[in-house]
Amino acid sequence: MLQTTPAGDTPKPILQLVGVRKTFGGFNAVEGIDLDVREGEFLTIVGPSGSGKTTLLRMLAGMDTPTEGNITLHGELINDMPPNKRPTCLVFQSLALFPHKSVGENIAFPLKVKGVDAATRKARALELMRVVRLPENYYDKNVMKCSGGERQRVALARAFAYDPQVLFFDEPLSALDYKLKKALEKELKDLHRETGKTFIYITHSLEEAMVMSDRIGVMRAGRLVQVGTPEEIYGAPVDRFVSEFVGEVNTIKVKRGTDGTWDGVDVPGRFTVRPPQDGATLDEAFVVIRPEYMRFLGPGDTAENRIEGTVYNEYSLGSRIQYQIRVGSGAGEKVMLVELSRSRALPPGADRAVTLGWDAADAFTLGS
Ligand code: ATP
Repeated sequence: MLQTTPAGDTPKPILQLVGVRKTFGGFNAVEGIDLDVREGEFLTIVGPSGSGKTTLLRMLAGMDTPTEGNITLHGELINDMPPNKRPTCLVFQSLALFPHKSVGENIAFPLKVKGVDAATRKARALELMRVVRLPENYYDKNVMKCSGGERQRVALARAFAYDPQVLFFDEPLSALDYKLKKALEKELKDLHRETGKTFIYITHSLEEAMVMSDRIGVMRAGRLVQVGTPEEIYGAPVDRFVSEFVGEVNTIKVKRGTDGTWDGVDVPGRFTVRPPQDGATLDEAFVVIRPEYMRFLGPGDTAENRIEGTVYNEYSLGSRIQYQIRVGSGAGEKVMLVELSRSRALPPGADRAVTLGWDAADAFTLGS
């Protein structure tokens, strides 16, 4: 079973999922989910479209009940507890703000429902507007006259007005333009730190997850295949799916010879291979090298592994340059990627012969 909570003095879980499954007409949209969500953490669930993220979130928020398994909040079973009875709040892309009300009225709405008096409501709404960085003079502004980013802040402030123990986010930034999205990602992370609340966020953008999260859970076909810090997910993926989901990679299939050496199957050569991190003994494996760990070797440069190739193409990635390098020949030809900072760029020239190098410690070895 996937170990999602390392032993030791980790904060106690606020939410616990044990064996959670959701079936729609015989199809398992989510299955075998065991997960401890720690109090105060920012946990992001990522995965490709259809991997079960929304289904999982709907069960956590109380909009759906699990077919099997248990969800507990502070140790209390909440499988069948309706959303409005849970100390949680869902923030999603379509916002569901009241269009004819002002910013202040929208934010103060949960307090009105609770019967809080008008003066206290206004004071709290203004306080929350400061938290989400909305100017005070927006209090009376009609919410429909606000920009997309401002409305997103109103929705956030309103969610905080419920004073939930856990906030769920369902792709709240996906409709925003790139620059605003980047700014709000950082603001959400700051808000998380300032409020100390537990945030559970779903997105299919790994980039978003990497910027904001304490931990990331990667879903594939209804299952959580890995849960870890952004560094663990990026630096020690459990399989090729995770390694490819979290960025571009070079993959070389290798086969162990009887003398224990490793020969390339799809790239010619004999390679020094780091043992798989899960300790498995493998006769066939995949060596995965991220483009930024590949380097060009000049005369006299050393590396544990090397491959000869030719420059096929290069792309500017802003401060970095990515090279596509052809290695092998004929049907066995393969394209490898090398990424360098612009200051270390190769002199221009297509079809230039190059030697690629990497050390075993800079790659990972995966069985599947
Ligand atoms: P996306 O990123 O596209 O929103 P997702 O990871 O959130 O995808 P889900 O919406 O959870 O994925 O869907 C998981 C699977 O369950 C999909 O195959 C989907 O078609 C199926 N599914 C979800 N809800 C239902 C439903 N109410 N009835 C039948 N099938 C459903």
